[in-house]
Amino acid sequence: MANANFIISRPSNEKVRIYESGSLDRQLLEAELERLSNEVIDIPLIINGEEIRTSERIPCTMPHDHQKVIGYYYAAGEAEIQTAIETAIKAKESWEQLPWEHRASIFLKAAELLATKWRYTMNAATMLSQSKNIHQAEIDVVCELIDFFKFNAYYMDQIFNEQVISTNDSWNRVEYMGLEGFVYAVSPFNFTSIGGNLATAPAIAGNVVLWKPASTAVYSNYFVMKLLEEAGLPKGVINFIPGKASLITDVILKDNRFAGFNYTGSTNVFSGIWKKISNNLEIYKSYPRIVGETGGKNFIFAHESADVDSLGTSLLRGAFEYQGQKCSAASRAYIPVSIWSRLKRKLIKDISTIAMGDVKDFTNFMNAVIDEKSFKKITSYIENAKVSDDAYILCGGGHDDSKGYFIEPTVIIAKNYDYITMREEIFGPVLTIHVYENEDFDKMLDICDKTSPYALTGAIFSKERNSIVYMQNKLKHTAGNFYINDKPTGAVVGQQPFGGARASGTNDKAGSKFNLLRWINAKVVKENFTPPTEYGYKFMEK
Ligand code: NAD
Repeated sequence: MANANFIISRPSNEKVRIYESGSLDRQLLEAELERLSNEVIDIPLIINGEEIRTSERIPCTMPHDHQKVIGYYYAAGEAEIQTAIETAIKAKESWEQLPWEHRASIFLKAAELLATKWRYTMNAATMLSQSKNIHQAEIDVVCELIDFFKFNAYYMDQIFNEQVISTNDSWNRVEYMGLEGFVYAVSPFNFTSIGGNLATAPAIAGNVVLWKPASTAVYSNYFVMKLLEEAGLPKGVINFIPGKASLITDVILKDNRFAGFNYTGSTNVFSGIWKKISNNLEIYKSYPRIVGETGGKNFIFAHESADVDSLGTSLLRGAFEYQGQKCSAASRAYIPVSIWSRLKRKLIKDISTIAMGDVKDFTNFMNAVIDEKSFKKITSYIENAKVSDDAYILCGGGHDDSKGYFIEPTVIIAKNYDYITMREEIFGPVLTIHVYENEDFDKMLDICDKTSPYALTGAIFSKERNSIVYMQNKLKHTAGNFYINDKPTGAVVGQQPFGGARASGTNDKAGSKFNLLRWINAKVVKENFTPPTEYGYKFMEK
């Protein structure tokens, strides 16, 4: 064991590449898109580093061309889950013994491989399987995942340097260990990087993990596993177990070594699993750590002094990039009537130029929504708005699932500020706007605060400093990530650690020191140099 305090310098964020026409990056990416879309890959479970295939084989298709199969994955059954648990517990012995700098090295190496050799494959896989354009894929699976790997290594070093006061006669030391048992990571479809981070953040801190990816993102998430293998992640530290969510969860939650749940996804699923964990509480060796980042109903609130051009662009990008399928997407807006006609003109004009289609056509700003279930859910909100007395469609509203799950960028005007699409998470390219009378500014801030159960992201637009302070104060509990004169999406690791409160989750800020702490058990050791030899105290002397 080396005797030294190793230092990981503060990383800088991975630079987002442009992929402009004719560039080498673009050529390499296009070649990879071509290669992957002409192959059908086989995606086994990975348990203890071994590839396992079960009798249940499920196709991976492309949302923008849903009949096109690009892979098949196998669903884990009860026996495979049990094996994964035993494997993980076994792997833990050597994983937690590994000097921390070697654990960190694996993820720093993964970051470097992703920035170079794996960049185009990971981008292409995410573009094809989750229907992202190149910019959306690059900021997700390349830049954000590299940042997660590097910053988590850096934060781990920072945490290990946190020590306590010692005295002349005793030395106090804090040791940081992983949790006793295993961590269960369950990830959503919308960011490949989130899946990668949910599995690796606990691992870097010394934990072993069972990772269940979302069924619609198994394809790209599998490549993350392969990248980690190439970076040298020891067998059994992270076990990849796609399959039926409720079955896998029920088997895992019955094991007394279940020590932590690292979840991102919708609020209802999280609440359901938390209840199951509570019901099983007596069986667990330790109180499980529960981390969940969940839904949102993110707002943009404009003051009458707002700059209309930047407000319009932020509404458009915030609501429609990646088809509105970002947990942080702007989905409701409050606009003062005095700026509405100018804003309306800009929105209608800009939205009319949005191109939508296949990810291989680089002129497309938007692609398809993830699957049939989402398509049906989103379009039912749109169809309801078309016949409602409380709302009307300003632009968009069309949809077509004949080839891919395409939904036009849609703006609903809610005459009633409490209309359903002002309250509920839709998770699609639908923005609802309520236009308010300028004199109702104060009342409308209260309404914005109380309208939805979530508190994930929110943005205010104003050019008047006093109103910014006022709005910030009135809306202080409405968002874990709050933006002033900016869209509410696009959080960057190390710059805007991400997470929300209320029904949006436990706000443990993915990609930060706070999050890593949840996967760490601290032990304080006091070493006494002069232990007392008599039990009495001076005050007792005659
Ligand atoms: P989802 O809730 O459908 O699925 C999330 C994960 O939970 C998937 O792996 C899924 O298989 C699993 N799951 C579903 N039912 C389950 C059950 N009964 N038991 C155990 N696991 C179950 O969410 P999604 O559609 O993949 O992602 C969209 C949701 O995620 C939105 O609500 C969005 O706001 C949220 N999200 C939040 C954040 C954040 O940081 N707050 C980030 C990304 C996505």
